[in-house]
Amino acid sequence: MQLDLETLYISSALGRGAYFVVFAIVALRRPGETCLWHWIGAILTSTIGSAIMSSIPPNRWLTFGEAWIVYLFFAASLTLSWSGLRLFNGRKISLVTVGCATLLPGTVYAATVLVGMPMRIALASIFALCGAYAAAGAYEAVRRSREQRLWSAYIVAASLGSYALMLLLTLGMLVATDLPMNTSESSMMSMILDQASGILIYFGYIAMANERAVLTIERLADTDPLTGLVNRRGLQAALAQLKPMVAPYGSSGVLLADIDHFKMINDTHGHQAGDAVLVAFASRVREALRVGDILARWGGEEFLAVLPQTEAGELAVVAERLRSSIESEPFTLPNGLAIRVTVSVGVSEMAPVIGHLEAATREADAALYEAKQNGRNQVSWAHRVSGPPIGVSAAA
Ligand code: GH3
Ligand code: MG
Ligand code: MG
Repeated sequence: MQLDLETLYISSALGRGAYFVVFAIVALRRPGETCLWHWIGAILTSTIGSAIMSSIPPNRWLTFGEAWIVYLFFAASLTLSWSGLRLFNGRKISLVTVGCATLLPGTVYAATVLVGMPMRIALASIFALCGAYAAAGAYEAVRRSREQRLWSAYIVAASLGSYALMLLLTLGMLVATDLPMNTSESSMMSMILDQASGILIYFGYIAMANERAVLTIERLADTDPLTGLVNRRGLQAALAQLKPMVAPYGSSGVLLADIDHFKMINDTHGHQAGDAVLVAFASRVREALRVGDILARWGGEEFLAVLPQTEAGELAVVAERLRSSIESEPFTLPNGLAIRVTVSVGVSEMAPVIGHLEAATREADAALYEAKQNGRNQVSWAHRVSGPPIGVSAAA
């Protein structure tokens, strides 16, 4: 294959121009995402560094001033990649650290040359530092983020990791061999590797931002904003995750809990007070359930709990614990007023596998209706189940 340096410089410049346009559009749409501006900075500084490099003939070493400026831009590019990844993962950055990291390679290079060390050693120190920066970026990409792990982060980590490895290999060659490093072949090789890793790294950043945006939207679509519980859609997703684990085993319980006379709370104390009761109610129900039980806001003031692998006896205990936890202590409204709240609970069993939620919920709903008819503040069982007879734990 016939390649020449000029073609590589042109394709590199075109590639960076394209990344810049894409990042600029994405960043302008989401100006609050500071990480995107850091990555734009990384693209711009590496473009300037490459432009300066391309204007220098490959068969001579850089002058002192050229080297200082070129390494300043390359170090800035790697540092901004690293700081962008930190910001992306919700970590803090210090501008002093970014500034020092940017200035360090050029300064070390200058110091090494000034004390009369050979050029190869001066360059090796640059490669060591830049390799360390790239490795730090790779680490930041996959370091456990506060939210979820992103698959696309591994693209960035692998690319930055390979880039670091490439720099360290070059360093090894500089120190351990006397192969000529300032030839057009070595310039071409580094241009090709630089372009390949650039494509992966910058596409990786966009993929990371996109993957996280999609996951965030999915999470929001699955969550009730008032109580933070899953909604109906979220419940289906949670059950789908649970299904392979519990499917072969015993029956699961379904509890449908509906606050009694909730409309009256709204009418008497206002909608905001009603909201506060819903939030406190959700947390008390959550506490009455066990780890591994799923609780969803089913609608308005109705909450649905799925208790995997739960036999009738235990289901009765949990349902009654739930009912009495609501009745036992008054709810404090935002204005400080304490009011008494009760709940009616319909119970059904979903046997033998999770997957018949619709039928089990219909049955729990019929049982709930019965609890309301029988005076509220009680647990009522769907008729078909073999659990305790209706009203066994009724307290009203
Ligand atoms: P019952 O004992 O028969 O269940 O009577 P209820 O008053 O609890 O039931 P009803 O269905 O008559 O009223 C439910 C009320 O819940 C009506 C609706 O305005 C209110 N509601 C639904 N969602 C919300 C919400 O998010 N916040 C507030 N504050 N109220 C809500
Ligand atoms: Mg109600
Ligand atoms: Mg209701």
